[in-house]
Amino acid sequence: MTDAAVPRHADSNVAATDASGHQRSARNTLDVERVRADFPILHQELYGKPLAYLDNAASSQKPRPVIAAMTEAMETYYANVHRGVHRLSQVSTDHYEGAREKVARFINAPRTDEVIFTRGATEAINLVASSYGRAFLKPGQEVLITALEHHSNIVPWQLLRDQLGITLRVAPVEEDGSVRPEAVIQLINENTGMVAISQVSNALGSVLPVRQIADAAHASGIPVLVDGCQAIPHQKVDVQALGADFYAFSGHKMYGPTGIGVLWGRHDLLTQMPPYQGGGEMITSVSFEESTFKGPPHGFEAGTPAIVEAIGLGAAADWLEAHDLEAVAAHEHRLLEYATERLSAIEGLRIWGRAENKAAIVSFTMDQAHAHDVGTIVDRAGVAIRAGHHCAQPLMERYGLSSTVRASFGIYNTEQEVDQLADALQVVKELFG
Ligand code: PMP
Repeated sequence: MTDAAVPRHADSNVAATDASGHQRSARNTLDVERVRADFPILHQELYGKPLAYLDNAASSQKPRPVIAAMTEAMETYYANVHRGVHRLSQVSTDHYEGAREKVARFINAPRTDEVIFTRGATEAINLVASSYGRAFLKPGQEVLITALEHHSNIVPWQLLRDQLGITLRVAPVEEDGSVRPEAVIQLINENTGMVAISQVSNALGSVLPVRQIADAAHASGIPVLVDGCQAIPHQKVDVQALGADFYAFSGHKMYGPTGIGVLWGRHDLLTQMPPYQGGGEMITSVSFEESTFKGPPHGFEAGTPAIVEAIGLGAAADWLEAHDLEAVAAHEHRLLEYATERLSAIEGLRIWGRAENKAAIVSFTMDQAHAHDVGTIVDRAGVAIRAGHHCAQPLMERYGLSSTVRASFGIYNTEQEVDQLADALQVVKELFG
């Protein structure tokens, strides 16, 4: 990722050990072997070949501290949160709320109570569409998205459109997969009620000019929702510096567990929003005549939450934060460049998405073989990649494609794994060519 790869301050080049005992890497270097040692799952063979896990954009693997935090919760202090007077419930509540603090710190949220735990990014976006959307968007107003959005940032707005009579406006994507800020900004008008955009495309890796778009939206008083799913594992995210009003992401793509994600929202917006779901935990009082509700975050967390998973997400945030995220971004950028070079050299292979500012995702097709055949063959070489539409069918259509093969890199990937992929693709070429 070009931006993040550039060190923002040329400070000490000396490795140091932080409070959690992790060694911070020297500037722009990452001890990948040390990182890999934290991931038990990576040290295995498939079909007699070392596993090369290159499906991180779909879901990433879990380091020992995340597994340990979740195991510790279940083995030593697990109980339901908030309602209990007994000791375990209090300890469990402290850890659950402690995880919220860790996440707030991780994204530089101004307030901890702006962090709402959800099932994932999908639920976070649905929460905004349902709660903010139904309360504040009026028939005839527009929600502005881009053509590269994940289905989870399209369909919730369509559902709202069908309920409310709002309109969905779609800003175009360039041939190289980039989104020009002007292409979005010129669609902002007096009817725009919300701008909802990805920070990084899951299908092509393009990094969007969020800040510029947010500044333009704010100049017209329009809130901006950012889908940060594909950014949060790879770079330092500061929701304030980004200019987001809502920020959505999933735990399982940032080395945390499934079943947990986050909606961060500006406190003044959250306090004006009606409940998303009703039930236990989100009320202050209930009678058959009427109920009253808590404010954020608990007013948006109806029912027993994903307690163990939230604790795991807090551990993932701590684990990621213990690394130099600029060094992580630089490492992944080098993998992107190396993979682009190796894959470009394969005859009949075409890479989709060549944006200048790009995360470590390489989407491609091969003249010789269907994406699913490619995925199946490279699997036999121990390489895990994804083939399909990546939940971005309108984007695929933009390029006249039904699917691509996608290799997506994370903190623990290596150049040898890129070689393993490239060699396996060479076999595909020879088999089908
Ligand atoms: N947005 C983007 C950009 C994504 O990549 C994904 C997951 N592929 C989502 C949203 C949805 O995340 P989840 O399925 O974890 O809710």
